[in-house]
Amino acid sequence: MPKFIMAVNIHMSSISALQAKLVPGQKAVITTHFNPDSDAIGSSLAWQQYLTLKGLHAQVIVPSAVSQNLQWMPGASAILNAENPIQKVQIAPLIEQADWVFCLDFSGLQRLHQLSSLVKHARGTKVVIDHHLDPEDFADYYYHRTIAASTCELIYDLIVEWGDEELISEEMGTCMYSGIMTDTGSFRHPNTTAHVHEVVASLIKLGVNTNAIHRKIFDSASIDRLKFLGHILANRLEYLSEYHLAIMWITEEDLVQFNSQAGDTEGIVNYGLQIAGAIWAILLIARPDGIKLSFRSIEPFAVNTFAATYFEGGGHKNASGGRFSGGSLTQAREKLQEVLPLYLSEINRVKKL
Ligand code: 5GP
Ligand code: MN
Repeated sequence: MPKFIMAVNIHMSSISALQAKLVPGQKAVITTHFNPDSDAIGSSLAWQQYLTLKGLHAQVIVPSAVSQNLQWMPGASAILNAENPIQKVQIAPLIEQADWVFCLDFSGLQRLHQLSSLVKHARGTKVVIDHHLDPEDFADYYYHRTIAASTCELIYDLIVEWGDEELISEEMGTCMYSGIMTDTGSFRHPNTTAHVHEVVASLIKLGVNTNAIHRKIFDSASIDRLKFLGHILANRLEYLSEYHLAIMWITEEDLVQFNSQAGDTEGIVNYGLQIAGAIWAILLIARPDGIKLSFRSIEPFAVNTFAATYFEGGGHKNASGGRFSGGSLTQAREKLQEVLPLYLSEINRVKKL
């Protein structure tokens, strides 16, 4: 039976039992979700550094490329990417032979894309450290708190709970701060608790340069990316005032024309919420492997149920994602138009709050 370690029911013996089982010389792989964001990469690298300090051999493996604005993170250059044909060959035996498989910042195997089967069948002990809703039952241990704003925050909490706070280095803190900063929308989303600020305060005391991290992550766009953003805002944005909904879309041609790189579409959906009165924003992207959707909303409107019900997805209440496998971008928009009227009463309720 998996051992769930939840905020509501913290099973201290399980936590310490797990810690005691980490033995120097063991092999660990750390993996995270497709299109890894700053929280995914930051938590994976911080955890890798922690395991290394504990004497384990730890390797971070990702199902798709690390975006350019995250490649400066300490340890990022050694990450193995399953989309890279040469690295892919090394990945399978590493996962198969690992004593530990840590799954960070996701708790549904499908989010691993081409790595999901390898991880599912791995013989090593699987540990999920995550803050997403509705974790799937595939691992042996869960350190799972939906109240946490980021997985980086959980990594910090777990290391402290294990009595190893003094092992947290400035480099680890730099990785953790990156994920905390981005998953809280630079400390403005409703998930920004007092605890988030307490964790960050302790990271700053370690010497973490928050200003430099902010600049590296947010002010590192290529000219192509900025022009791409301008194109989307100018030509691919509609506001459906009746539904208080901003819709944006990106075609396959747009991605090619602006030489879109991994991470270039990150954050674009949030612009929709800058429209006065907007309650939610949806971005549809025509990727070569299908239509990907991003959903964002303001409190208390929940987009995760919308994403799960109509677009094979889910996520957080105010930040979710999904897919449309029933056809083209136009067909995905048609499906959206069909289901929107079902949400009119909820939108009107939220509008009055
Ligand atoms: P994004 O729009 O940045 O791709 O995703 C926002 C959030 O939605 C992610 O942090 C993740 O929690 C969730 N999410 C994205 N795609 C999926 C998906 O396909 N399935 C589920 N369950 N959650 C997703
Ligand atoms: Mn996260």
